[in-house]
Amino acid sequence: MIFKNFYQFFRERQIYSVDLKRLYPNTYKVFERMVQNQEIRNAFLFYGPQGVGKIDFALHFAKSFLCGLMPPCGFCSECVYESHPDILIVRKSADDERLKVESVRSAIDFALVPPYSSRKFIIIQDAHLMTQQGYSALLKALEESKPYTTYILTASKIELIPSTIVSRCVKVRFFPNIKELLETKIQEKNFPQDVNEILYNISYFNFSVIEKDEETIRRIWKILSCVINPEDSRAEFIKLINEIREIQEARDILDSLESYLVKNSAKLGSFSVDLWEKIRTARRNLEVFINPKIVLLSLVF
Ligand SMILES: [Zn+2]
Repeated sequence: MIFKNFYQFFRERQIYSVDLKRLYPNTYKVFERMVQNQEIRNAFLFYGPQGVGKIDFALHFAKSFLCGLMPPCGFCSECVYESHPDILIVRKSADDERLKVESVRSAIDFALVPPYSSRKFIIIQDAHLMTQQGYSALLKALEESKPYTTYILTASKIELIPSTIVSRCVKVRFFPNIKELLETKIQEKNFPQDVNEILYNISYFNFSVIEKDEETIRRIWKILSCVINPEDSRAEFIKLINEIREIQEARDILDSLESYLVKNSAKLGSFSVDLWEKIRTARRNLEVFINPKIVLLSLVF
């Protein structure tokens, strides 16, 4: 259950803007070397949860390869294009359940035309959502692919892709090292050590809390402590909640609480399951504009 939540968070928060090099240091090095040596394979399969930057990485790598530097220099003749004529991203339209075979075929046609520059990149998003015809067409294209073509497939459900296709790709796993990322972000802030400890506990899915001031972080932690030990601290909880005015403050508290639960679920046992349920209800109530104070009170009563 907690893992399902974990993926949902990735999807919802879409950690697209964070630095790819910091999130995937080892993978980055491997691809950087390919760019430096201008050595590359014909097909890759990037897999991992949705929203963790697989497409961003694919595009970043393709641009870098054409430029010759990773990250790309930004001013050479390859970098001046807003969208490079040798890079094509194929994705299903929002209304469709699956990626249509026509889109796959037109991508294959694009791949057959020699590149303007040194290489052609075809990036296929959600490759696990193709039709059977699409897979057949793609398999044939991979088998007969031109030496100047590289396909990068991205998928969150690799098990849905036929093994005949998977076996023709270099598989690259994308799963960000969140712990490392958080540690770096927290250290940069130079808070006292006890505030750092609080942040390790409440920022897992909630990077924005790291940007708040010390006093706010301490206040959120006080409120959370009350929720975690409701028997001893209902009176104090009510006092703290009384100061809350904005829906956003309530959201921050729920985000922090969720992060705390993910980190400490083993310690909290069945209590954490109850809390998950309460948080879910609280979120729903906030979105229908029930007073944030009342919503938060429901966490301890
Ligand atoms: Zn460049």
